[in-house]
Amino acid sequence: MRILLVEDEPQLRAPLRTALDAAGYAVDEADNGRDALFLGDTEAFDAVVLDLGLPVLDGLSVLKRWRHNGRNMPVLILTARDNWSEKVAGIDAGADDYLTKPFHMEELLARLRALIRRAHGQASPVLQCGALALDTRSGRVTLDGLPVALTSHEHKVLAYLMHRPGAVVSRTELTEHIYAQDFDRDSNTIEVFVGRLRKKLPPELIETVRGMGYRLALPERA
Ligand code: CA
Repeated sequence: MRILLVEDEPQLRAPLRTALDAAGYAVDEADNGRDALFLGDTEAFDAVVLDLGLPVLDGLSVLKRWRHNGRNMPVLILTARDNWSEKVAGIDAGADDYLTKPFHMEELLARLRALIRRAHGQASPVLQCGALALDTRSGRVTLDGLPVALTSHEHKVLAYLMHRPGAVVSRTELTEHIYAQDFDRDSNTIEVFVGRLRKKLPPELIETVRGMGYRLALPERA
């Protein structure tokens, strides 16, 4: 899952970045509204953390332009304390959730997880596919209740597939959602990660759809 982090205060952006990295997200950053607008318009994000008070172009304008341009990724806005009208304006502009500064990092992470789950039609924090389970809160993957040890990239690939059971996901799409923009992306490595996942999981769980990509078996068929 890939997150766009938009915050101009380095003292806040740095710990946010650290927390998002630690939670297993691929993270892109912007410190002004113009760069944020461009990134959100051109790259694939699973969620955005958007500060509203930004230089060059304010966060509310950025959000309105994204929605006008048909960009529908979940957006969590960060608002100033005691500014209720900013929250209303943000939600009316297309924000999915908000947090008031200062906030606890755990709350931000929980809200992001919920937004991403809901965007994929998943209500439960534990994603299940037959005997395979991914607890989105801890990142823990289990098979028949026993922990499965995955590398960070294997985990990112599996987490993306588990949010979209039954859907065909191309290698390009996977590449876009597990790497940040500045990463040296190579869609061939996806094949390697999927190969390793198949060795650690029931091999029939991740199906290859010829010429199109991969598909995680539907829970009831796994
Ligand atoms: Ca700000």
